[in-house]
Amino acid sequence: MSSPLAALSDYHVHTPLCHHAKGWPLDFCARAVELGLGELGFADHNPMPTQFDNWRMSIDDLPRYLEAVEMARAQFPQLHIKLGLECDYIAGHESWIEKLAGMAEWDFFIGSVHYLPGADWAVDDPQHMSRFLTGEIADIWASYWRAIERAVRSGLFDFIAHIDLPKKFGFRPPGDLRAYYEPSLAALAETGTPFEINTAGLRKKCAELYPAADFLALAAAAKVPLLINSDSHDPAELCAGYTEAVAAARTAGFTHTVRFAKRERSLMALP
Ligand code: ZN
Ligand code: FE
Ligand code: FE
Ligand code: ZN
Repeated sequence: MSSPLAALSDYHVHTPLCHHAKGWPLDFCARAVELGLGELGFADHNPMPTQFDNWRMSIDDLPRYLEAVEMARAQFPQLHIKLGLECDYIAGHESWIEKLAGMAEWDFFIGSVHYLPGADWAVDDPQHMSRFLTGEIADIWASYWRAIERAVRSGLFDFIAHIDLPKKFGFRPPGDLRAYYEPSLAALAETGTPFEINTAGLRKKCAELYPAADFLALAAAAKVPLLINSDSHDPAELCAGYTEAVAAARTAGFTHTVRFAKRERSLMALP
């Protein structure tokens, strides 16, 4: 009997090269086979040209990353294994992402915003959680969503990660959040850029999927393409929360997810 996971993929998977994940590609592959997952995609935090922070792959480790994925493909020929990166969108560094795109046969680039424009702290870093307590939540959200819109319009990315990440610690601005979403939703719809349901939010203080149900409903109505991903930093997290994610996608009105091969997109019906 085939698993409902055969119709799904998990394209947001990290490796120890980013210094805060465990499980090498071979370990994730073994787990993917156990689960009967349709496609597995690696997307470690992108290298920068020089030392930038301590939670991404170093440029010197890029060959190790490519070799680890090659080895996984050789040892798990029955699995569909995709090669990607989770790339930070930072205004002014666009040409670096273009350069990275030429360094391997990538299947997809995920665009993420962790750093607010002009800031040197990441919105999901627990060491900086107190910034949300100082009454500037609305400013943080406004700045974050402007960066997401720019990331989408940059055209550098195949899809966008954890799109309402600043809710991670449970702090949200008061009132209707749709005003924050709308410019980015328009950008996704106009450019035809997909986004992910990221189940890591279920495992964080906010205790809900990224993005919130309101965003999902608006995205489905605007026909924005969808992926479902776990953001695994451990093989035990592969496909975590997928039952809830599929239900949320269906409730919002989605019928398909998208897959990538060499940065070309195809459609897959939801199970
Ligand atoms: Zn990470
Ligand atoms: Fe991320
Ligand atoms: Fe990630
Ligand atoms: Zn992520």
